[in-house]
Amino acid sequence: MLRDSFGRVATDLRVSLTDRCNLRCSYCMPPEGLEWLPKPGLLTADEIVRLVTLAVERLGVTEVRYTGGEPLLRRELVDIVARTSSLRPAPQVSLTTNGIGLVRLAAPLAEAGLSRVNVSLDTLDRETFEKLAHRDRLPDVLDGLAAADAAGLRPVKVNSVLMRGINDHEATALLRHCLERGYELRFIEQMPLDAQHGWSRENMITAEEILAALREDFDLTEADPGERGSAPAELFLVDGGPARVGVIGSVTRPFCGSCDRVRLTADGQVRNCLFATDESDLRSAMRAGASDEELAERWLAAVRIKKAGHGIDDPSFLQPSRPMSAIGG
Ligand code: SF4
Repeated sequence: MLRDSFGRVATDLRVSLTDRCNLRCSYCMPPEGLEWLPKPGLLTADEIVRLVTLAVERLGVTEVRYTGGEPLLRRELVDIVARTSSLRPAPQVSLTTNGIGLVRLAAPLAEAGLSRVNVSLDTLDRETFEKLAHRDRLPDVLDGLAAADAAGLRPVKVNSVLMRGINDHEATALLRHCLERGYELRFIEQMPLDAQHGWSRENMITAEEILAALREDFDLTEADPGERGSAPAELFLVDGGPARVGVIGSVTRPFCGSCDRVRLTADGQVRNCLFATDESDLRSAMRAGASDEELAERWLAAVRIKKAGHGIDDPSFLQPSRPMSAIGG
């Protein structure tokens, strides 16, 4: 098992399939985009499936989430999902996406064994969306969400990041939109992972502020905290339930003590934490002919040295040099 020195076991594997994206959200990358990872360095579909198989069959991973950049841009995605969901023991296979492209891909992905999607949606206002993402694609995202729901990828989960002075007045509207459609909404505190290093704690909308804004319009009661386990979201019943809303206080209410995640980047590096400063290079080892045993050993060693937490509040905190799009959200 992928156990670290604090006794946490990583069972949730996040695999980035590409660092490219068709949006330019300001909390992630600059409007002109980034220098993308060179193509020969990206894992091939076969290499991804080999490493995921190793993780599931030998290292105790039970959930595989494909992410990016934007994973729907990866041409072999449906094939990768199909091969992942046919592994035994069968992992839960999910996808974090901006939703653009789901109209075309939601049904084939569901058929390939995908169990659910998390779609980012920060605003319902087309102008704000364009300002934030530097692309006029809000209708595509909303259509993508509807397509995921129609394909049975339920509950469709929506992730929202509120930013001061940009969309922080939209908490209620976003929740109403999701409640009306049966989507599960989670608000996430913005983390310092943008390529421009523009994050500031003062501008971050905190979990407390999000809850205060929602409580102006909804009655929120804490859902059974015993249910939370290693899930990052604190869940609240909305107006008595059964509908729920989640708040992920990544910065002000960290949940690193029960973290069960490990990440594999699109260029084959194991990261034991979003904020890790070290990586373990499985791609080079694999291409140099490493056996599954050797790869497993490297992976185990990489997780063993995971730090206790992200340490954002620590004066010595250093933002990782890889931006979020190249780590995998
Ligand atoms: S910051 Fe690192 S340790 Fe904390 S929950 Fe995220 S991945 Fe886990």
